[in-house]
Amino acid sequence: MKIVIAIDGYSGTGKSSTAKQVASRLGYHYIDSGAMYRAVTFFFLSNNIDFKKTEIRETLKDCSITFEGTSIYLNGKCVDHEIRTMEVNQHVSEVSAISEVRSKLVEQQRKMGEKKGVVMDGRDIGTVVFPKAELKVFMTADTDIRAERRRKELEKKGMNESIEVIKANLIERDKIDSTREDSPLQMAEDAKEIDTSHLTLSEQIDKIVEMAESIIYAS
Ligand code: C5P
Repeated sequence: MKIVIAIDGYSGTGKSSTAKQVASRLGYHYIDSGAMYRAVTFFFLSNNIDFKKTEIRETLKDCSITFEGTSIYLNGKCVDHEIRTMEVNQHVSEVSAISEVRSKLVEQQRKMGEKKGVVMDGRDIGTVVFPKAELKVFMTADTDIRAERRRKELEKKGMNESIEVIKANLIERDKIDSTREDSPLQMAEDAKEIDTSHLTLSEQIDKIVEMAESIIYAS
């Protein structure tokens, strides 16, 4: 039997890297829901759309998001790099709080998970997108450790940013994500919490693969 694995948690806890590897180990599809919110944010920013004022529903008709493997495309153009800038980081939580944006992306995410065999990471996957997911994981980690991980990640991509700016952005995003009205970031009641502060990436992956396999083989 194939299952749905929902991985939620705070920014910079290693959800994406973990989810991608878990999917590869199980032969499942990996879907980065955060990349979709980032792509919509990049769409607004690059087209100078004032998302606080504009009629969002109409505008979103011109914003098509697709995946090819794990690469994300906005209106047919690969935007893997463009969605990871500090500018997008600084606006993505505001954009993600807009209900019209959420309902469009949630509908698309549910379709992508229809046939199961997916690992999706985000903020509301276990609570809203797939409330019946067979395995739900909620990842947390110490804020300083998260900021340092993000800094290294950006550095690898040639983007140097100070630890203070990165940490402030993580805290700000967590605050907006946790307190928004529509689908706030919270742990699903039936999720398993994993604190990744002192775990290596491979330890995180092993833990989740083990949990998944015990569900898959028991069914
Ligand atoms: O996962 P990542 O840090 O790339 O997500 C970027 C932002 O997208 C989050 O801070 C959050 O505002 C938003 N997001 C969301 N719901 C999801 C995934 C991401 O609101 N399922």
